[in-house]
Amino acid sequence: MNKGKICVSVGAETADETIAQIKRAQDSADVIEIRFDCIEPEQTFKTSAYLASEKPLLLTYRPQEQGGKAVNDLDNRQAWWTELVINNEMVETRNLWFDYEYDLTNLRKVSNQMIIRSFHDFSGVPKNLPEIFESLSVESEIAKIAVKADDITDTIAVWNLLEKAKAENKPIIPIAMGEAGKWTRILGLAHGALMTYAALESGKETAPGQVSAQDLIEVYRVKELNEETEVYGILGGNTSVSLSPYIHNEAFKFHNLNAVFVPLQTKDLNGFMRRMVKPETREVELNFKGFAVTIPHKQSIIKHLDFIDETARKIGAVNTVKIIDGKLHGYNTDAHGFIEPLKTCYGDLTAVKVAVLGAGGAARACLYALQKEDANVTIFARDLSKSQKLVEDFQVELKELPTAKTQKPKTDFKDFDILVNTTPLGMRGEAEGETPAVAAQLAGLQLVYDLVYVPFKTRLLAEADLAEVPKIGGLAMLIAQAMEQQKIWTGRDAPMLEMSRAALKRLR
Ligand code: NAP
Repeated sequence: MNKGKICVSVGAETADETIAQIKRAQDSADVIEIRFDCIEPEQTFKTSAYLASEKPLLLTYRPQEQGGKAVNDLDNRQAWWTELVINNEMVETRNLWFDYEYDLTNLRKVSNQMIIRSFHDFSGVPKNLPEIFESLSVESEIAKIAVKADDITDTIAVWNLLEKAKAENKPIIPIAMGEAGKWTRILGLAHGALMTYAALESGKETAPGQVSAQDLIEVYRVKELNEETEVYGILGGNTSVSLSPYIHNEAFKFHNLNAVFVPLQTKDLNGFMRRMVKPETREVELNFKGFAVTIPHKQSIIKHLDFIDETARKIGAVNTVKIIDGKLHGYNTDAHGFIEPLKTCYGDLTAVKVAVLGAGGAARACLYALQKEDANVTIFARDLSKSQKLVEDFQVELKELPTAKTQKPKTDFKDFDILVNTTPLGMRGEAEGETPAVAAQLAGLQLVYDLVYVPFKTRLLAEADLAEVPKIGGLAMLIAQAMEQQKIWTGRDAPMLEMSRAALKRLR
């Protein structure tokens, strides 16, 4: 166990709801932050009711320019604090923490309270972070510095304040806000951060990138992590919807490994590799041991590898990286993850006629795996000219997939045995509810396999039900490819049941 604390942040419009939230936070929090700026102004001074908590309370009244809801005016805020702290004997009788922004220089300790001196930048990362840290950490106050990270490399400067604070023996809470900075909230305690802030529940975040207290404790086990913890992560353009942290952390927990899997949202892959991964050039020491790689980095990661395995090379995409002695080894587990559930469900695929819809990265992995099983594959793509490279690489038949825009007659798939959807049609977001084929087109097929896994039951799978065609959803592939990743990273057989349960729990 490390010594860090989880601070659950609460704050609703009414006093009653805030008090209810404080009660709900008792089990998971070490410290509960009351965001007074979120509460209706006339209800903020019901102090005795707020203070009925078994856990230490952190009182915060955040102005708008620091990401809160209180008015920015300094005199106004100082008056608010004076009213709360100076004129209220309840406050003096308890062991409380206070969060004073950097500009509230007139406010110091009333008695023995812990003071957090905070600075927030929601627009980016100021260049003078070390100076800001120096100015905040005076008179044994705790410096809290939260900056907005648009890309993962934006996190480096704030993360490195931990080393500075350690060297100067000063307490610090460094946070990179936003999805790209989520990992700092997860790994901070292991590297000496005094505290990490958590949302009471998913959907109740009080700052960008905040993780729920339940996830910090049960999924990421943040208090059990230390500097020796092996770090794995999902490397992608948008990691906020990924199920991988839930699946992989469940496997690490099952095997009782000192390892954690974190979101690593990355735009600038070259910068990430150079500044955070490669031993010769990196500026942080995070003990990275491997990555799951997703859109849009599956191809662009290849130039950063020291070794690529044969399957990944033939597919032309890498979804798994293992780091051994600082060297990056690339693999592709999508092909294995795709074919295993299919063979289990369908059996021998020799000469079986398969229609694969879509011609992107996932289609390449499916094609590779199907051709290895001697299946007879036809690709259906909306843009034939874009798909020529795939045709050349795999010597496969290509047909046009009519779309709503082209208004051509819908394809009839009755001459095929299996239909595989590798397009994002039906996926949560813009394409949810859409389908590449309706029931009438599916009649006569023996199996429909949809790679999309969010939502759990896509429109295509519902159409397969209508056509009375057996189906496989994308979760089966997701779990199978993740199990193979675990095998590559840890050498152990992954716990399928536990990993599937973790994914389903999240999906529901
Ligand atoms: P990708 O490389 O972007 O390829 C997507 C393909 O779908 C492209 O050929 C694209 O055509 C086509 N497409 C996109 N929108 C379309 C539309 N509205 N109508 C017809 N075709 C359309 O993506 P990917 O990596 O292959 O992933 C595709 C899907 O598979 C995603 O939903 C992903 O979540 C899922 N997937 C699931 C698993 C799993 O484990 N279950 C693993 C990998 C991927 P253009 O080139 O013309 O845009």
